[in-house]
Amino acid sequence: MRFTSTRSLQSLTSAEAISRGIASDGGLFVPENFPPISPDMAKELICASYKERAEKILAGFLTDFTEEEIRKCVEGAYTHTFENEDPAPLKKVTDKMYLLELWHGPTCAFKDMALQLLPYLLTVSISKTSPGKTIVILVATSGDTGKAALEGFADVENTRIIVFFPQHGVSDMQKLQMTTQTGKNVAVCGIEGNFDDAQSGVKAIFGDEEMRKFLKEKNMDFSSANSINFGRLVPQIVYYVSAWCDLVKQGKLKEGESFNVCVPTGNFGNILAAWYAKQMGVPVAKFICASNSNKILTDFIRTGVYDRNREFYTTTSPSMDILISSNLERLLYHLYDNDAEKIASLMDDLKKKGKFTVSGEVLAKLQQDFYGGSASDDEAKASIGKHFKNEKYLCDTHTAVAVNVYEKYAEETGDNRITVIASTASPFKFAPAVLSAVSNEKIPEDGFMVAEKLSAVSGMEIPAPLATLKTKEILHKNSIAKEAMADFIRKNLA
Ligand SMILES: *Cc1c(COP(=O)(O)O)cnc(C)c1O
Repeated sequence: MRFTSTRSLQSLTSAEAISRGIASDGGLFVPENFPPISPDMAKELICASYKERAEKILAGFLTDFTEEEIRKCVEGAYTHTFENEDPAPLKKVTDKMYLLELWHGPTCAFKDMALQLLPYLLTVSISKTSPGKTIVILVATSGDTGKAALEGFADVENTRIIVFFPQHGVSDMQKLQMTTQTGKNVAVCGIEGNFDDAQSGVKAIFGDEEMRKFLKEKNMDFSSANSINFGRLVPQIVYYVSAWCDLVKQGKLKEGESFNVCVPTGNFGNILAAWYAKQMGVPVAKFICASNSNKILTDFIRTGVYDRNREFYTTTSPSMDILISSNLERLLYHLYDNDAEKIASLMDDLKKKGKFTVSGEVLAKLQQDFYGGSASDDEAKASIGKHFKNEKYLCDTHTAVAVNVYEKYAEETGDNRITVIASTASPFKFAPAVLSAVSNEKIPEDGFMVAEKLSAVSGMEIPAPLATLKTKEILHKNSIAKEAMADFIRKNLA
């Protein structure tokens, strides 16, 4: 298996693509094809454990890794790190609606699924491409990636990790999770700006010649733990394949029978991983792309025009408050039949004019697979209340956006296939908004009191990683202007 950039023809091994994170031309690395799941392999996967499924899927993409290397990576990532033996349990909420709970890991959001594995993949990759080098992981986070990356990389040898988050754009719990992070190799810094500012800043630093030179002199190099790194995507493919296997195993789906996938979407990484699973042979009919009020993707899927010249909203689902969905570039590359020149020009339009338009043919292909819909904060809140009342199922604000959009989709189209909804965070991570959806009582000021109240109302226990935050010391108090990110990095690595 070789990897190329979405913006020019290249040929890299998976270790090279994972070590670098982002291509030197600004593009993202994509696999040149998708290893098919044969009928025999499907039979094996259905009977296998989650870890065995992960090993088999990874092996198809990481052909330069040995079987033993892959096994060690998967064992390290998914042994004793998640609450249950199965890190991605599928919960039936109604006859047609299944929630794939991806938040039973150390930071209570779905990013753990990939970020528990990425440090292992990266360590093996570097041992192949540039042994002895120190890799500096730069992260821009809308809240959940930062903590998940810190958990994954803290005290991992030969790595440093620097996380930037929007000072006023994350929940109290998210901020505490990051600012209390321990580890000899970690740095955490708030910026005065939103997530897109943080992400653009990080992307600019990746492309900065001076900075590259500075790192080279120190025998260091940058890489990324954001979903622009292919090493983040491949673990995410696994849980969609796994959800399908579980449905078949439980007799809910016949072999070959299709189902839908609905994903609360921000940077487009999670839903793209589901689409990759389909390219491998998982029978997904429709990908329902759910947005909050920042509904740039809904508009794009409906019109073919991607236009970021619009108001930015701060919502109760902050991890989806995004106007530049990086991974869309990968989907466009595939839909344009690997036309890198075309993608480079679309991305240039986005950079210069803040918008681009796809061809009619590509729009038709896009709409064949994808449905886009959005839900306001109030609609999401209503969905949390409804399913708590009807089925005693409590979901977080991000997942609620997806539930709301799925129900609108089903109503609008009459499509009554089984739908798997990615449940991306524990409700306790966004406790104030969730509590207000299920209780009329006054919401306490203190974040931990909110969590306790939510626990009392729902009968669910506060996840340990959140409960223990209360006693932790705040270690990172930096807050800087968005222009000062490069300086912060230089000082930190000096
Ligand atoms: C990151 C995140 C999302 C968005 O996922 P993308 O892969 O960026 O589309 C949704 N929900 C939660 C809770 C998240 O942390």
